[in-house]
Amino acid sequence: MKIEVDLYSDTITRPTPEMRAFMAAAEVGNEQAGEDPTVNRLCAMVAELLGKEAAVYLPSGTMCNEIAYRVHCRPGDEIILDRTGHAVHFETGGPAALSGAMLRTLDGERGVFTGDQVRAAIRTADRHHPRSRVLSVENTCNMGGGTVWPLARIHEVTAVAREHGLATHLDGARLLNAVVASGVAARDFAAPFDSAWIDFSKGLGAPVGAVLAGSAAFIDEAWRWKHQFGGAMRQAGVIAAACVYALDNHVERLAEDHENARMLARGIGQIPGIVLDPEVIDTNMVFFDVSATGRDARSVRERLLERGVRIGANGAMRMRAVTHLDVDRAGVEAAVAALREVVDGAA
Ligand SMILES: *Cc1c(COP(=O)(O)O)cnc(C)c1O
Repeated sequence: MKIEVDLYSDTITRPTPEMRAFMAAAEVGNEQAGEDPTVNRLCAMVAELLGKEAAVYLPSGTMCNEIAYRVHCRPGDEIILDRTGHAVHFETGGPAALSGAMLRTLDGERGVFTGDQVRAAIRTADRHHPRSRVLSVENTCNMGGGTVWPLARIHEVTAVAREHGLATHLDGARLLNAVVASGVAARDFAAPFDSAWIDFSKGLGAPVGAVLAGSAAFIDEAWRWKHQFGGAMRQAGVIAAACVYALDNHVERLAEDHENARMLARGIGQIPGIVLDPEVIDTNMVFFDVSATGRDARSVRERLLERGVRIGANGAMRMRAVTHLDVDRAGVEAAVAALREVVDGAA
């Protein structure tokens, strides 16, 4: 069965014809020598957007996190982050393998923790302890539910980190979703962080790429690891052009994804046996629990696939639907109808 409505992830977006045309026309050069004008333009745009001195183009968001941690940490150091964090679950142990870093996880609410939790997690100076070195914040928090961090809370947790000499890192894979949802400027969200990045291959709709920003000295160091990790490129302007195009054309439209997610949640929430978890829909993600439907997540996923709808199973009973550029209102309605059929069929 062909997938007609794909709510698996916002990573599945395909470049639009206009984006492809823009990519085809891109000026290019040797990226790793700093000679690709399109990459340079993209990095300048992101540095400006995030209010940082400099930026570097990387193949993926994962590499942004791993390089930032590598710059900030020495082996044995500890990174403090929420237990739902991407680096905890989806980077194949990268912080341990590449930086020798320990992860200290906090029990936040929908991925959002407090200054007191950070303070309690920071190690006292004792030669037996690992050294607390980085505070890492994910905004929006993916596995928390696409949660937007309140700006005041960001100030609270980063102030505690700075007070104790920790570096601060922002995993902004979906920062622009947070910006569009909250009205807070990207540079205001990024200001309290030493390093911050945004992903282009998620809701922004580019096929590849992420940009990591920070001070000029931080980005200088980041370049060393970009080379060592194999992330230095050549005529990367062809792909960077998609990111430039996305910044110019695909940011404000994220509001449509958020509206579609709320519509999806309203529809799904009315199906008996389905419980939204969390109930609040901040951005483009809808998580829900199927325990009370008589089916587990895998069974619901398979039956939805037979109806041309793809929704990911994120646990035995938890599922995640993500709205994006390639799903419209009609698609959302079709997904709700298919889910209702699957759940009714289980009764
Ligand atoms: C997707 C994601 C990443 C990794 O980005 P890739 O471009 O897929 O490597 C990191 N953090 C968060 C919160 C993400 O959602």
